[in-house]
Amino acid sequence: MIFLDAAATTPVRREVLDAMWPYLTGEFGNPSSHHSLGEAAADALAGARSSVAAVLGCRAGEITFTSGGTEADNLAVKGIALARQAANPQLNRVVISAVEHPAVEESARYLERFHGLAVDVVPVDGEGLVRPEAFRAALRPETAVASVMYANNEVGTVQPIAELAALARGLGIPFHTDAVQAAGWLPLDTKALGVDAMSISGHKIGAPKGCGLLFVRGRTRLEPLVHGGGQERGRRSGTENVAGAVGLATALTLAQARQAEERRRVAALRDTFIGAVLTGVPGALLTGHPVDRLPSVASFCFPGTSGESVLLELERQGVVCSSGSACAAGSDAPSPVLTAMGIAPEEAQTAIRFSFDSAVTGADLEAAATSVLDAVGRVRALGG
Ligand code: PLP
Repeated sequence: MIFLDAAATTPVRREVLDAMWPYLTGEFGNPSSHHSLGEAAADALAGARSSVAAVLGCRAGEITFTSGGTEADNLAVKGIALARQAANPQLNRVVISAVEHPAVEESARYLERFHGLAVDVVPVDGEGLVRPEAFRAALRPETAVASVMYANNEVGTVQPIAELAALARGLGIPFHTDAVQAAGWLPLDTKALGVDAMSISGHKIGAPKGCGLLFVRGRTRLEPLVHGGGQERGRRSGTENVAGAVGLATALTLAQARQAEERRRVAALRDTFIGAVLTGVPGALLTGHPVDRLPSVASFCFPGTSGESVLLELERQGVVCSSGSACAAGSDAPSPVLTAMGIAPEEAQTAIRFSFDSAVTGADLEAAATSVLDAVGRVRALGG
């Protein structure tokens, strides 16, 4: 099998499992317990927090461990907006982009439905980019929080986050970015990016599912969403997932240590693959930005097919990929990300995403390109 669905999830790395193992077995303490077993767990958690902080260029106290990217996005968007609105009721708007993951989009819609906030959606261009002018135009004195993802999960377009963050911060508006897909591929230094909050998920970078984190800068107000024993400095109650935090910190450190050379290698393989598909499949369309895209994502529309049929045919040939994001898979509705980019709904329904991890080889992608040519040809011959 050639696994080209790394943007959906990745296997746990051996080094990550080894780092976690003690905290799943002998060192199983609760970090809140005042005996040696509890203290060992608290030390492990503190160590994980410091490692993450070193990668993100922030203070350990600015990291909140969560159950994944979805919870981190919810905590950022709802937590910052609700805290700021409570302090100043006039802060009653939220800005998001038109291509956010549902974890951000639905958090904003929740604020709209239950807390009366207005949601301002910034459009993207045909390549999925948020234009800084359009973003600036959406920011108002009443904006409580702005959230734009770092890299898109369906088409891989990378947003000009430092520029967008500077615009928001210049107006005193906290800026959050969902960096779930960016982690491991793009710089994550929170100071250089100038972001106030950033979400990361473990399972996209070789840690287990169900662990993630939210960075929240300094004194940014944040209303917790999960109440209880006051763990994570009161920002996220519940007994901490010590092994998950250790695994996430290990995976993040390993992923970010990837050399620039390695990223360039994967980007070059991606471009060869894109070239082979575009020249081999008549009418194939690359979706997303041709240059400002994740090294790890190649996404297309194949007019005259249904994405699901191509997917099935590819799987029959041993190539595993996705018809869009894993969250949208199984739904018949065309992807809101693609339609926001101006792609017609019939065309959006023919979308396929190939996403790789750094273990991908030229031979994998050469074989995959051959399968794509064949699969699209077969599906078209059968009438889509
Ligand atoms: N944000 C983006 C951009 C994603 O791609 C995903 C996962 O697909 C998430 C958030 C949600 O992360 P998790 O699966 O850890 O909840």
